[in-house]
Amino acid sequence: MKNLKNFTHDELAGVVKALGEKPYRVAQLYGWLFAKGAQSVDDMTDLPGEFREALKERFCIRALELIEIRTSSDGTMKLLLGLEDGEGGEGGERIESVIIPEGEEGRRLTLCVSTQTGCALGCVFCMTGTAGPGRDLTLSEMVGQVEAARSIIVGDGGERITNVVLMGMGEPLLNYDEVLKFLGVLTDPKGLGYSPGKVTLSTAGVVPGIEKLGGDMPVNLAVSLNATTDEVRDRLMPINKKYPLKLLMAALREYPLKRRGHITMEYVLIKGVNDAPADARRLVNLLHGIPCKINLIPFNPFPGSEYERPDDKSVKEFQGILVRARYTAVVRTSRGADIEAACGQLRGRRGERGGGGGGN
Ligand code: SAH
Ligand code: SF4
Repeated sequence: MKNLKNFTHDELAGVVKALGEKPYRVAQLYGWLFAKGAQSVDDMTDLPGEFREALKERFCIRALELIEIRTSSDGTMKLLLGLEDGEGGEGGERIESVIIPEGEEGRRLTLCVSTQTGCALGCVFCMTGTAGPGRDLTLSEMVGQVEAARSIIVGDGGERITNVVLMGMGEPLLNYDEVLKFLGVLTDPKGLGYSPGKVTLSTAGVVPGIEKLGGDMPVNLAVSLNATTDEVRDRLMPINKKYPLKLLMAALREYPLKRRGHITMEYVLIKGVNDAPADARRLVNLLHGIPCKINLIPFNPFPGSEYERPDDKSVKEFQGILVRARYTAVVRTSRGADIEAACGQLRGRRGERGGGGGGN
């Protein structure tokens, strides 16, 4: 049975029409599903009984299974979630979402959402990439991550998830259609209700997807840059062979930004690979003319990886070069490293060493 939370507003309109109900029922049904987070058709008390029965005969509502919550000493929480196809048996896919308290007194709560169960792009510094490809997540599985996160923080002193980043496992722009549906529901005031300014999508540089997203959805864009020459980037991120730096930077220059808007450049610093002062100077040149902020993420090691994190001194030196060139460059201290919730440390599927792309 199809999960009702896989339907967009337009698709629900088709369902309502096919069942011979009045058009105004669409808004009611949509509101129950996404704004009110209904977990059963029976919760929808203002829908006529007959309509509810007809819905129940044809569709279901299924939440993700909350398998485990781990809390880090820094307040970061990692949610291990079982997907719909895992129901009733071992071997189902699992994903992870991370809740990161940020800002003063942790007033901002950022949820890091996964968009695929693995990643086909194979970046060599990333656990998800090294664990291999997975499948695309559906609309309901992405909405389900927000619902799971909301369910565990509600009641905790009125806190709520304030920001959402698509930066967990997977490459969002390779699951474009479903991710766009999710962004639609996420940023709809009548849906999950996040303003587009509170939502960020992170990509490894899938150029056609960047071009399309710019026209489709005014969310913030983050790009995992990680290198300043094609030679190094080819080695770290095989996607660079398909969309080399020249194409990527051209797409970023064209990306529509609101006044005072910017693109976030993520740069994982790997000892002896991309962390030299010369890299920082090339980065300054590469970014010329692009309104951006730079997040420097010292590499998070994982079992089996051959790379190392640079020492604090070279991180500071790298950052200093960017700051002197008047860029905002922030070193993202890894959150949740003690529970393996930091960037690149998310676990993958059941029974595997697993992987995970994201983190903050
Ligand atoms: N596929 C998308 C989003 C998920 S990856 C993308 O690549 O942007 C999210 C972030 O985690 C990326 O910026 C990536 O560079 C970073 N990352 C992956 N592995 C890491 C590791 N081992 N240490 C630090 N950051 C890592
Ligand atoms: Fe995929 Fe992003 Fe990890 Fe690269 S960094 S393998 S694109 S999840």
